[in-house]
Amino acid sequence: MNTLVIAEIYAGGIARATRQATTAAQHWGQPVDLLVLGATDATAHARIAGVRRVLQADATHLAQPTAEDLAKLLESLADQYGVILAAHTSLARNALPRLAARRGVGMISEAVALLGPATYQRPIYAGNLLATVENTPGLQVLTVRGSRFAPAELDGAADVQRIEAPAADGRSRVTGRHSAGGERPELASARVVVSGGRSLGSEAQFNALLEPLADQLGAALGATRAAVDAGYAPNEWQIGQTGTVVAPDLYVAVGISGAVQHTAGIKDSRVIVAINQDPDAPIMQLADYALVADIFEAVPALQQQLSAK
Ligand code: FAD
Repeated sequence: MNTLVIAEIYAGGIARATRQATTAAQHWGQPVDLLVLGATDATAHARIAGVRRVLQADATHLAQPTAEDLAKLLESLADQYGVILAAHTSLARNALPRLAARRGVGMISEAVALLGPATYQRPIYAGNLLATVENTPGLQVLTVRGSRFAPAELDGAADVQRIEAPAADGRSRVTGRHSAGGERPELASARVVVSGGRSLGSEAQFNALLEPLADQLGAALGATRAAVDAGYAPNEWQIGQTGTVVAPDLYVAVGISGAVQHTAGIKDSRVIVAINQDPDAPIMQLADYALVADIFEAVPALQQQLSAK
């Protein structure tokens, strides 16, 4: 049997998450095909190492697919595959359970380790425990946490093949995608993340304090749920149990207490820097570097130091 990876739709070329999912796909030791949707650059994706064939479904409605449309397309391909997987992105975690339900098979969500042909490790209880789960044999449908897998190299030379897609589902359609992050790196795969909490006090202060620092570090911006709920930052920036899971090389937590629901989303970060005026805040225990300071003094001082370099 073969393995099918769904490439993330990403304006900037090849999403890191796609390369990470391709690495995960090698686990089964069978030929790996990569499905690219819409007008995504199939030739660029053919360079991802370990891919045998790039399947390009370039029907107009797949340029901005709904989960229903993607599930329908995957169902039309499923007989050829023993494994269908994608990184744990919003589209994949919406479409793949639909495919699993249609095929009457299990859905493994956000696997962090692949232990056998149908055995996986996945986080439960906000990432505080890892469950080992065994799926039924047969078609494996899963998402993987990209940050647990090294991105595949870009020295491959796969064939590109155009495929027909079933007609659009038609009940709903995507009218546009708007990146709240602007030119910034994609949050889930950013190498540096600057993140702010409720202590920022307002949207204006959040932006005024954190944007220049993020610019200097080439970072994505993130936020706690408290900051999002207070309207200081958009929903897409929320990190944690009910937001995005990040695993950057550097995570800078500015005025964040470190509630378990937040730290569930940052535990895989390589280095955590926390700035908080309370030395007993839980984030200070988790941080590699904990700075006890007022954020409104420490962050501008940090920026000054960085621009002096
Ligand atoms: P607070 O807990 O209020 O912390 C503010 C921190 O800022 C404090 O430690 C304080 O000492 C410090 N501070 C204040 N002023 C300054 C200053 N001037 N200088 C320096 N430090 C200062 N939260 C998430 O983030 N992500 C999630 O996905 C998420 N999911 C949740 C799911 C559920 C079901 C529930 C119940 C909660 C969830 N939460 C989530 C909310 C979570 O429990 C916390 O309430 C939230 O993370 C707290 O955000 P915060 O750190 O910004 O705010």
